[in-house]
Amino acid sequence: MNTSSYIGRFAPSPSGPLHAGSLVAALASWLDARAHSGTWLVRIEDVDGPRTAPGAEGEILRQLHALGLVPDAPPIRQSERNALYERALQRLRAEDLAYPCGCTRRDIESELAALGQPAQRGAELVYPGTCRNGLNGKPARAWRLRCGNDVRIVWHDRRLGEQQQDVTHAVGDFVLQRADGPWAYQLAVVVDDAEQGITGVVRGEDLADNTARQIHLQRLLGLPTPRYLHTPLLRDARGDKLSKSNGVAALDVSDPLTVLRDAADVLGLSPFRAATLNEWLQHAVQAWRLRWPLA
Ligand code: GLU
Repeated sequence: MNTSSYIGRFAPSPSGPLHAGSLVAALASWLDARAHSGTWLVRIEDVDGPRTAPGAEGEILRQLHALGLVPDAPPIRQSERNALYERALQRLRAEDLAYPCGCTRRDIESELAALGQPAQRGAELVYPGTCRNGLNGKPARAWRLRCGNDVRIVWHDRRLGEQQQDVTHAVGDFVLQRADGPWAYQLAVVVDDAEQGITGVVRGEDLADNTARQIHLQRLLGLPTPRYLHTPLLRDARGDKLSKSNGVAALDVSDPLTVLRDAADVLGLSPFRAATLNEWLQHAVQAWRLRWPLA
């Protein structure tokens, strides 16, 4: 019987098969769960239908399996959990913490320009609050969180140390659901982490910037905050994060030890010899336990 209270998860978006970069997050979350005698779950984050690639979910699970990273329960899919997200949105609406917004990206850009805060190219736009007091006849395009005037979140990352974000000014009233259906990552992840009883979130450092928003939502919804550990990223020769959007190749799992060693190297685990996959995994779990205690 598993007596540990640790529950971790790997939460891939099935926009393509596992690649060398996503394996780093998968391996780290698996190691953390195993090192703390916990449960390891896989959650398929397919809320954004058009970004879901046919067959990717099955391929990701097959690749994980070939590497010995096998979840302790059947994976769940966000696309089947609308009712849970709807309930969370209703709760926020009932407390007037969510409001409909009719702005397009262009509306937001021109409003920001009029306020003397022109948007930086490629940067996330801080919503200026245009629809906070009503839609002014525009059709609703999204539900946004009413963020509050002074939301500062201080949080701890097991690897990066103390982190903080002024959510009000760095992000503003962020989107919870688009009017054409899709739930925002922030809402879905917070609802699912709580509903699955996740105690340890281990994921890539590129997602660290979302954590303050997620903790704010957890507090508004009365949900617990898990422990966080954001891992180093695998970068290409130019220093960019490897991702499906820059065309990275699917992971070839025909030689499991080689790909696992590469991922462990990104995670800073010292190399070690092992004759079999199982032996390698057991050794890696011990090394991880020493390096990342839960204290
Ligand atoms: N689905 C996200 C991704 O693939 C990860 C979300 C998370 O771990 O919180 O980038």
